[in-house]
Amino acid sequence: MALMVKKFGGSSVANAERVFNVANIIIEDYKKGNDVVVVVSAQGDTTDDLIAKAKEINPSGASKREMDMLLCAGEQISIALLAMAIEKLGCPATSLLGWQAGFQTNSTHSLARIKRIDPERIRNELDKRRIVVVAGFQGLNKHDDLTTLGRGGSDTSAVAIAASMHADLCQIYTDVDGVYTADPRKVPKAKKMDQITYSEMLELASLGAQVLNNRSVEMAKKYGVQLEVLSSLEAKPGTIVKEKVTMEKMLISGVAKDNNVSRIAIVGLDDTPGVAFKIFNKLAQAKVNIDIILQSVGRDGTKDITFTVTEDQAQEAVEAIEAMRDVLTFKSVSADNSISKVSIVGAGMETHPGVASKMFEALSDANINIQNISTSEIKISVLIDEKDADRAVIAVHDKFID
Ligand code: ASP
Ligand code: MG
Repeated sequence: MALMVKKFGGSSVANAERVFNVANIIIEDYKKGNDVVVVVSAQGDTTDDLIAKAKEINPSGASKREMDMLLCAGEQISIALLAMAIEKLGCPATSLLGWQAGFQTNSTHSLARIKRIDPERIRNELDKRRIVVVAGFQGLNKHDDLTTLGRGGSDTSAVAIAASMHADLCQIYTDVDGVYTADPRKVPKAKKMDQITYSEMLELASLGAQVLNNRSVEMAKKYGVQLEVLSSLEAKPGTIVKEKVTMEKMLISGVAKDNNVSRIAIVGLDDTPGVAFKIFNKLAQAKVNIDIILQSVGRDGTKDITFTVTEDQAQEAVEAIEAMRDVLTFKSVSADNSISKVSIVGAGMETHPGVASKMFEALSDANINIQNISTSEIKISVLIDEKDADRAVIAVHDKFID
């Protein structure tokens, strides 16, 4: 007998038929004698619809406390419906809101962090041989106000329960059957992976692979919770995410594309000490998140610094730099949104030379110009023209994975 945590995303419980489908998956494992804790998201587009309702009332943005109060309703609906479906199929189930399941968070509304989970109530229900259905994405702060964990936060709820209850298994059910080497809708030869490491998954998640929420992978890594990403629509094994993969490693595990990239270029800076510090200190104060940074070689006493940010922060970044004219000498600062970041990720590249050159060869063969390059231990990223991005992903993918 095992303790299983199963998480189902919004599309997996989008309508009555899907809810019963999920109930059947749960019951199958319950009837084998396992303890089953289920975490669900709001049905389909419920969360987006609720956000739209709030915008009708206050277009400039309601308070975050009230937004959390509103959004928690989405998951309240889905847990009740799922518990009803399980009961209808003849098994005992109890639905619990985040606070009833013991989720305590800090007070950062709309992006709260879990402080601790007190799973006593969950455990009592399991001891009575009931299936427990928990609302994902939500908790309670120390003032007894409802909080939410940020978009896609139900993954994190599931991992947190698995960690705190030392579950044997944490399964994340979704509408794809696992983690792929590239977006299968765009890259025909994309392959499903049987296993992937936490570190690779983290890189891919942050690069926009969008199967698992980033924070949930961080938490799984921290507490050693082995995850499985699998389909709620097809009964077959998914992708296991864990510390070390036991099978023969592919050189790279995935190719990802991110169009939400803007490059800020500051041209004609004084080539003197302290310039980079001044710039990035100012950007840090403005809470602008910086990704790839590049500085040109100084020439005739001046240099250029470029860096990337997400597109929604581009304007802020440019304004922050413009506002520094009195303390910083430079010719111009501008933002370019027409670029894309294409990256390859793979634990294998730590020990294999020539990975970068292979990637550049693929891009060269496809006649795609590389504008910037950045590397880390298990990742190589290039900035290219956005219109070349889809072609680049296919070219690079097919070079490494056949
Ligand atoms: N319902 C929330 C959202 O749409 C949380 C989740 O789906 O994980 O972001
Ligand atoms: Mg862009």
